[in-house]
Amino acid sequence: MAARPSEQSTATDVLVLGGGVAGLSTALCLLQAGRRVRVAARAYLAGTTSAVAAAFWYPYRAYPEAMVAPWARASYERFAELARAAPEAGVTRRDTIEVFPQFAPPPAWASDLPDFEFVPTAALPPGYGAGHRFTSYVVETPIYLPWLMRQVEAAGGELRVHAYADLDEALRDCPRVVDCTGLGARELVPDPSVYAVRGQVVRVRNPGLSRVWIDEYSGGGITYIVPRSHDVVLGGTADEREEDTTPDPARTPGIIARCARLEPALAGAEIVSVAVGLRPARPAVRLELEARPGGVVVHNYGHGGAGVTLSWGCAAAAAHLLLHT
Ligand SMILES: Cc1cc2nc3c(=O)[nH]c(=O)nc-3n(C[C@H](O)[C@H](O)[C@H](O)COP(=O)(O)OP(=O)(O)OC[C@H]3O[C@@H](n4cnc5c(N)ncnc54)[C@H](O)[C@@H]3O)c2cc1C
Repeated sequence: MAARPSEQSTATDVLVLGGGVAGLSTALCLLQAGRRVRVAARAYLAGTTSAVAAAFWYPYRAYPEAMVAPWARASYERFAELARAAPEAGVTRRDTIEVFPQFAPPPAWASDLPDFEFVPTAALPPGYGAGHRFTSYVVETPIYLPWLMRQVEAAGGELRVHAYADLDEALRDCPRVVDCTGLGARELVPDPSVYAVRGQVVRVRNPGLSRVWIDEYSGGGITYIVPRSHDVVLGGTADEREEDTTPDPARTPGIIARCARLEPALAGAEIVSVAVGLRPARPAVRLELEARPGGVVVHNYGHGGAGVTLSWGCAAAAAHLLLHT
């Protein structure tokens, strides 16, 4: 891990604020376009929301839909390529089923997927009235975030630990800034429209599962099962404007019980850890260029429950805004 405080300054074309999935992906796009990039973040890895994410491709709680669909599609293509050609990145192709109490029309993004289909009710677990099936990609953040950091460094980028007080301070360091600070944008910009949606996940030992399941509408809260190589991430909760990052032990049995309805083998699975993250929600993802005294800032934050899903599409769009405006 190369993130370190440093006093030394090297020539930088762009300063990217944020070391989560948004900041690192954007930095990589800018490096690939030949720019000299420094990333500065208050924290990397376990200090980010990105590290808590489940983190599978699924557009959830990110707006507006018309913009989210093309960003999600671009990321889908990149994840497909990584799953095929870069096993060290920790991205895995997964059969995925979303269940519903009754008929549900296909989502707006379904036509972008190669294999979206309806599941016959008889093939669903008992009690569900409809199902959608498609290929998704699971991004194992304990592997993927360090991989992204290595990619940034290998392409010549710098990774620093620094918390900026405001954008003026960042613009004094570099006149071209990309703001990927997630929930931190609320104070940094400042942007009062950013708010937290608290999510609790339970990680259990994998009893041999490989399919992703999603159930948002059967009551009890958003439910998902995300098998990874060494564990399964079980979700979850979506608590609007709650910011306590301490796991609530009272919520854990309910999460496991809802998941065991879909995969009974989870009922007795050994708990490895319980974690909480704060989704950086906003009425709309902010992806725009702002001219300020001292330079320009491209904002790339507010991805809600889909920051991984949107990461490559938004990174490419943010880089394009900075390079071509
Ligand atoms: C329980 C849970 C499950 C989720 N599951 C999924 C999923 O399955 N799929 C999906 O697509 N998404 C999922 N998400 C959402 C996803 O995690 C977020 O949308 C995404 O991580 C946001 O990435 P980010 O880089 O914008 O923010 P973060 O990962 O929070 O990174 C923000 C960065 O900015 C830095 N920063 C903040 N303020 C400052 C400052 N003032 N100065 C310097 N640095 C600063 C932070 O230190 C950090 O490095 C989930 C989230 C949760 C909580």
